Amino acid sequence: MQDVVEKVYEQVVARNRGESEFHQAVREVLESLDPVIAKHPHYAEDALLERIVEPERQIMFRVPWVDDAGAVHVNRGFRIEFNSALGPYKGGLRFHPSVNAGIIKFLGFEQIFKNSLTNQGIGGGKGGSDFDPHGKSDAEVMRFCQSFMTELSRHIGPSTDVPAGDIGVGGREIGYLFGQYKRLRNSYDAGVLTGKGLAWGGSLVRTEATGYGTVLFAQSMLATKGQTLEGKKVAVSGSGNVAIYAIEKAQQLGATPITFSDSSGYVVDEAGVDLDLLKQVKEVERGRVADYVSRRPGSRLVTEGRPWDVPVDVALPCATQNELDGDDAATLLRQGCAVVAEGANMPSTPEAVEAFLGAGILYAPGKAANAGGVATSALEMEQNAGRTRWDFATAEEKLTAIMADIHDSCVAAAEEYGRPGDYVLGANAAGFTRVADVMIAHGIV
Ligand code: NDP
Repeated sequence: MQDVVEKVYEQVVARNRGESEFHQAVREVLESLDPVIAKHPHYAEDALLERIVEPERQIMFRVPWVDDAGAVHVNRGFRIEFNSALGPYKGGLRFHPSVNAGIIKFLGFEQIFKNSLTNQGIGGGKGGSDFDPHGKSDAEVMRFCQSFMTELSRHIGPSTDVPAGDIGVGGREIGYLFGQYKRLRNSYDAGVLTGKGLAWGGSLVRTEATGYGTVLFAQSMLATKGQTLEGKKVAVSGSGNVAIYAIEKAQQLGATPITFSDSSGYVVDEAGVDLDLLKQVKEVERGRVADYVSRRPGSRLVTEGRPWDVPVDVALPCATQNELDGDDAATLLRQGCAVVAEGANMPSTPEAVEAFLGAGILYAPGKAANAGGVATSALEMEQNAGRTRWDFATAEEKLTAIMADIHDSCVAAAEEYGRPGDYVLGANAAGFTRVADVMIAHGIV
């Protein structure tokens, strides 16, 4: 990295000790900025880089709640309001035991550039808690969400900060969170949260959007080589919201997804994933991947290793950060995988990213490939503000156009800065310059 950029990175490490995921996310963006700063040195003036890596506001709070047996538990809540240059802070809430300040900060930082790429006037933020919804009753999840929102409600609003879901936060949790917000405020501010149910302000296609968008991005990358997804074998990780709808769109486009996973292992189904069964197990029963295997002859559960051991043409990591390392990347490449599109945020380690870029395959980083989720959240805000509701086809058409536009912006920026086909550089450069130009216009704030 250039000296000026390296200095910013060192300051981030010194100021945010132990937050390795945040360091990793910042380093990846700053490395991409070398050619941008070389061509436009004014982006390094007035401490713009130092400002962009420092959250505007960090909120951390106690979340006490009572379980079904009457025992009191205390979790920690977070909301990082990272950058509001382009609009209200926007980004999901994650409920997972691994959540800490560094994880939320990395996600919030990525979100700035992702949201910028969508070109929809949304800033970057992220939040969550180390609460684990697995194994909790609906009543326990509700009491936790009510306690969490009691504090969070002071900080959010339709023009201030608009959270959505992420790992461990789906339709059920958004419902409980919205109910408590409405009760505290005595105001039906539908635009304060996205990912809402269809009967109370939600948007069609929001549930499908992240997974669909990831696959549409892969399809756009393939189109640059005159290819399509038709007939391709696909490995997917995860079996949550993003994974399920990535599988659905891949199937619609003629590909055959053959794997999915959760934290208990991965499933290989060479005949192609039975999506109805997967939805029944995961969305309805909230079960484990083993429940799929017990009802699906010919499929098998692997509890050691990762889906990346299975030979495929396309890999879609859709579970969590750093779930695909250098060795996994080498395995994928050796077995002929030529397309990787990230549904999850930062699922590939730096070594894996280097291997993909070195091999010159079609590799899309999460901040570009999974932006369909937040883009459709912004469409949900638009419908809430206009008190209107679009049909499925209209919302999907808008998502498709936004993903194509993000793809083309990445391609154009990669070419402008001298590395055609490098979607990492393209996404970071295109996302950064839009935010940076507005930060400059707003002065030193
Ligand atoms: P869900 O909670 O719906 O699903 C997460 C899936 O990943 C589950 O199958 C879960 O398994 C698995 N998983 C999570 N953590 C781990 C872990 N540490 N080890 C192994 N498996 C794990 O979340 P989403 O599908 O919403 O999110 C998946 C990814 O996509 C995340 O990186 C998220 O940030 C990203 N993303 C999500 C968006 C959205 O709109 N929802 C938008 C953009 C990005 P288990 O149940 O066993 O934990």
